[in-house]
Amino acid sequence: MAAGRGGGDNDLWKMMETPVPGKLELIVGPMRSNKTAELLRRVEIRRQYARQYVLLLKPSADTKAAAGLVESRNQNGCGRMEAVEFPAADPWAALEILAATEQRIGKRVECVALDEGQFVQDLFLFTKRLLETGHDVMVSGLELDFRGLPFGEMLDLSWLVRTYAGNVTELVAYCSCGAKALYPQRLIDGKPAPYESPVIMAGDNYEPRCAEHFVLPGKPH
Ligand SMILES: [Zn+2]
Repeated sequence: MAAGRGGGDNDLWKMMETPVPGKLELIVGPMRSNKTAELLRRVEIRRQYARQYVLLLKPSADTKAAAGLVESRNQNGCGRMEAVEFPAADPWAALEILAATEQRIGKRVECVALDEGQFVQDLFLFTKRLLETGHDVMVSGLELDFRGLPFGEMLDLSWLVRTYAGNVTELVAYCSCGAKALYPQRLIDGKPAPYESPVIMAGDNYEPRCAEHFVLPGKPH
């Protein structure tokens, strides 16, 4: 770095340099494994102790970005935090929000945190872009859908962890029998949902279940 630059210029210079790729922290697990609470805890400690700027993003079915909340379902957990909503079908729209934030704060956003990653289209490429542009990324989400099949692109992100460094945290949920739950059991009116029901469905209800108690009527294999 050239001597004699003012602090402000230095910061601008840093932003223009080719960035060091960020690291990816992946938080996965079935329903009721406290993924969101864990994500919010990590956002909080980065802000509080590392004094980082963490942009918390939440995918939304709406097409327009808006202010929103990320909320843990566990009432004893880390509660809720304000988040920026972006359209799940177009995460690239969030890049504009990121750029505008960096303009405003005069430095690179150190970390982008993303909840419910399974709903985001282009999740793999979007996360890769964030890492390559020098942002640490934290993503929480479901790896399997109610059929026990890969949900969105969450499973693909483990390649990015290996390639860009970072870590995977697998959180555990329990079936009511006490065994480790592997699957999200979808219930419609209290009964197991058939295989043919849509992957994303409003007003559905879930229970974490072990392999023995997971029921999927009409599954082909
Ligand atoms: Zn069980």
